Amino acid sequence: MPLAHHPLDLQLAMPFTIARGTQTEANNVLLRLTDGDVEGIGEAAPSEHYGDSQSSSIHFLRQAASVISGSEPLSCLHELLEGIAKNNPAPKAALDMAAYDLLGKRLQAPVYQLLGLDPSHTPRTSFTIGIDSPACMAEKAKAASDYPILKVKVGTEHDVENLEAVRSVTDAVIRVDANEAWTPKLAVEKLQEFARYNIELVEQPVMASDLQGLGFVRDRSPIPVIADEACIGPSDVVRVAPYVDGINIKLMKCGGIYPALQMIHIARAHHLRVMMGCMIESSLAITAAGHLSPLLDYADLDGQLLIEEDPYEGIRVEDGRLVLPDGPGLGVRERIR
Ligand SMILES: [Mg+2]
Repeated sequence: MPLAHHPLDLQLAMPFTIARGTQTEANNVLLRLTDGDVEGIGEAAPSEHYGDSQSSSIHFLRQAASVISGSEPLSCLHELLEGIAKNNPAPKAALDMAAYDLLGKRLQAPVYQLLGLDPSHTPRTSFTIGIDSPACMAEKAKAASDYPILKVKVGTEHDVENLEAVRSVTDAVIRVDANEAWTPKLAVEKLQEFARYNIELVEQPVMASDLQGLGFVRDRSPIPVIADEACIGPSDVVRVAPYVDGINIKLMKCGGIYPALQMIHIARAHHLRVMMGCMIESSLAITAAGHLSPLLDYADLDGQLLIEEDPYEGIRVEDGRLVLPDGPGLGVRERIR
C-alpha cells in the first residue's frame, strides 16, 4: 500500500475568531505516500466551509489508496483524484504536495527548483490578528511587532474601533479580511471609512455568491478588493476576474500546488494580483504553499505561527520574509521535541 494516513490534531495557541466564528483547534490529516524506498509527506487541513472534514478527508484517502501507485505524473494523479470525487480539495492537496515532495526527493531537488523558481524572490508574509476587543487586538498587534504586515479580521460592528486600536500601536502594512460579512453597500461605507488607516487591500467583503456585489464594491472602494471565498479553483478565476482586483489562492481550496499554478497563470492572463493564503496548518502544508511564493504579490502564510506546537519544521519567517528550506522535495522535517 503506497499511502498511509492518520489524524493530525493541532491546538491553536489562542482562540482564533473571524466573522464566521471561532476556532480553537484544527483537525487535520497527515499522509505518507511511498514509491519504492522514497517517501513524500502531505497534510490536509479540511474546512467545513469548503465541504471537507477530517472524516471525509480520511474517507477520500482510503479510496485514493486503492487507485494510486505513488509514481504517476502529477497531471495523471489529479485526473485520478477527480475521478474519485469532485470535491474534497484538502485531501487532494495533501496527496499533491506529497507527490511533489516525493518527486523532489527522487530528483534531489527542492520543489521551488522543480517549479523553476528563485527562492531569493519570496515575499513577506502577513501575520493575522483575529477579531477580539479593541484592547486585545492592540495587544496582539504589539506582540506581532516582528511582522511588517498585519492582516486584521473585520466584519463586526466594532471594526472602526478595532482598526483604530491596532493602527494606534503599529506602522505595519495593514490588510483587512471581512470573510463575506457585509452587504455591498455597507462594504463601500466601511472601506471608505477604513481608508484613513492606510489599508493595503480587503479580502472578500461580500458573500462569495454575489459577484455583482463584489464588482459594485471594487468600483467604489478606495482599497483594492481580493476574492477569497468566491475563488476556489482554476475555473473560478475567469468567473471572478471582471469583478475584483485580485484573488487569494489556498492549497486547501484548490487541491494542491498543481492546480494553484494553473490559477496563478490564469490570474496573470487576466491582469489580477495574486495572493496565497492558508488554513490553520502545520509547517508541512505551509511550506508546500511557500514553494510557490516567489510567484506572489501577497503572501498570507501564517497558519503555522498560530498553533501551539508545530510538529514540523520547514519554511521560516525572518523579519516577515518567507525563507524556504533548501532540502530535497518540500524540505520539511519532523520537529524533534
Ligand atoms: Mg480570507
